[in-house]
Amino acid sequence: MSLNCKYCGKEVKNSGTRLVANGNSYCNVSPTKAHVAVLDGEHCIYCGKEVKNSGTRLVANGNSYCNVSPTKKHLLG
Ligand SMILES: [Zn+2]
Ligand SMILES: [Zn+2]
Repeated sequence: MSLNCKYCGKEVKNSGTRLVANGNSYCNVSPTKAHVAVLDGEHCIYCGKEVKNSGTRLVANGNSYCNVSPTKKHLLG
């Protein structure tokens, strides 16, 4: 499924650590200059990884640390 940036509307994908659109992680219309995925309830809005609720926290690939999130935690939409 595709994921879109809520600021610029471009299709974004996870490039390992951050979201990129057409290979570019810079989003000129975002307040943080980073793409932020629209809320779909399945992917972290910061890193774009598919996250699961492990009971007490959200994990992506078994990891609860989100290096692009201001709180260092994944956030579901
Ligand atoms: Zn964007
Ligand atoms: Zn994340």
